Amino acid sequence: MKKLNTKKRIVIIGSGFGGLAAAIRLQHEGYNVTILEKLDQIGGRARVFKQDGFVFDAGPTVITAPQIFKNLFELAGKNIDDYVKFFPVEPYYRVYFNDKTYFDYSHPDKNIPQIEVLSPEDVEGYKKMIRAVKPIYEKGFEELSFQPFISFWSMLKVAPALIRLQSYRSNYEFVSKYIKNDKLRMVFSFHPLLIGGNPFSVPSIYSLIQYLEKEFGIWFAKGGTTSLVHALARLFHELGGKIVVNSEVKEILIENREVRGVKTTSGETISADLIVSNIDPAFTYTQLIDKKWRKKNKDKRYSKAKYSMSLVVIYFGTKKQYPDMKHHTIILGPRYKELLEDIFNKKVLSEDFSSYLHVPTRTDPSLAPEGHEAFYILIPVPNLDSKDDWTRIATPFKEKILKFLDKNYLPGLLDNIVTDRILTPLDFKKDYSSYKGTGFSLEPVFTQSAWFRPHNKSEDIKGLYLVGAGTHPGAGLPGVVSSAKVTTDLILKAYDNYNKNDNP
Ligand SMILES: Cc1cc2nc3c(=O)[nH]c(=O)nc-3n(C[C@H](O)[C@H](O)[C@H](O)COP(=O)(O)OP(=O)(O)OC[C@H]3O[C@@H](n4cnc5c(N)ncnc54)[C@H](O)[C@@H]3O)c2cc1C
Repeated sequence: MKKLNTKKRIVIIGSGFGGLAAAIRLQHEGYNVTILEKLDQIGGRARVFKQDGFVFDAGPTVITAPQIFKNLFELAGKNIDDYVKFFPVEPYYRVYFNDKTYFDYSHPDKNIPQIEVLSPEDVEGYKKMIRAVKPIYEKGFEELSFQPFISFWSMLKVAPALIRLQSYRSNYEFVSKYIKNDKLRMVFSFHPLLIGGNPFSVPSIYSLIQYLEKEFGIWFAKGGTTSLVHALARLFHELGGKIVVNSEVKEILIENREVRGVKTTSGETISADLIVSNIDPAFTYTQLIDKKWRKKNKDKRYSKAKYSMSLVVIYFGTKKQYPDMKHHTIILGPRYKELLEDIFNKKVLSEDFSSYLHVPTRTDPSLAPEGHEAFYILIPVPNLDSKDDWTRIATPFKEKILKFLDKNYLPGLLDNIVTDRILTPLDFKKDYSSYKGTGFSLEPVFTQSAWFRPHNKSEDIKGLYLVGAGTHPGAGLPGVVSSAKVTTDLILKAYDNYNKNDNP
């Protein structure tokens, strides 16, 4: 029997993808779930800016592993096709090097002919690397992503497998073992940046992202990622769940080390048997919980941890179209390792930069007025540990980036922009309660992954659970949606005596 219908009341703080996915799972299991969202709209980093007839997805644009969403709908007996449509995107990314040559990164069948031209001696190595990432994916994604890792023993158990899979190597080292050409090393090693990790620091297990892309492709939701957010919200509402926007949680109420509810900034108290926080663990523990319930050394961990980079995102719409541009373009600057060193370790904003350019109207013209084009350009920058004053430098920074695009990739841009806006590290902090204004919470280095990452179930406060980028398995849509399953399984185990295999 699946449903014990406990009818426990659960408050989920935040409506990011992790919060929404957990809400669907828990509501489906018979819990009485309410999501409280601080902003005036849902989606978190995947919110949307609608402006002057353009639709700009604020954050995620690349959908890998669409099956994780399909599973959520199937769980509730629904068909995802009745809620949202996905388009395949090809190539996955066009990667421009600093000399303006490019590589269209895609499925290996399309990559190999390009490698044959660029660096024939790397073809065999590339094929070997593809074979090597398969077991990493099978272990890392299919198995470890869904394990709770709340005891050290669970970590010890997987250690031999991690060693076998060369997780002690950095992602860049792993790629370099198979590939000699510097350009190709960049093309096949940038993936950890998509989840907030420096390819030179995070373990090679994150090469599994390449495998996800190879097996399942890259997709874009019709109407933008926001339509996927709203599809999940619709499913949650149909299951009987409730979402309240403009409701910022100020405090998690605790008695005798057990949650009792939350207090919002408007002074409202909402009682709950369980709380699931979809916000940064650092923010949850250091800002929402009275210090008397926390062990001092635990909070110190958050100020000392290694955090992901932040981002500047510039959204802009043009009255001119650029049919030669691809949907996803990565523009690499003159430096790779050194630039990442500046961003992640030295925390300095360099003169040079690398970026990701999103042109969704290449796939879905409905996102801009007819004959127009919608864009965003994302630039990794140091998080707020740097000394940069974004209130002062945001506008000159934006001008510099747009000028660069005008000169190098989008001729006539400056004369054709009809609307724009910018998101800086300060907005990440203010809008998403992101500790240090990071784009992706804790950096997924080995010592902050799996058991070493903040646990999905609080160790010292009963009834408090975490979901989303800062907990296991980590950032990115596949990560946060998987974290919702881990968290739900832990709740079901604790309160419903349930058998994990019931829950796909
Ligand atoms: C610009 C950008 C591009 C990205 N691109 C991709 C991509 O292409 N593909 C991909 O897979 N991943 C991508 N990512 C990563 C991915 O978007 C995130 O890892 C993921 O969306 C984070 O989801 P989350 O569940 O952790 O919650 P979040 O999105 O962080 O949501 C947390 C929510 O909590 C709310 N909140 C905060 N404080 C409070 C409070 N006190 N009370 C109530 N609510 C509160 C916030 O408003 C927010 O809505 C991108 C990220 C960014 C920033």
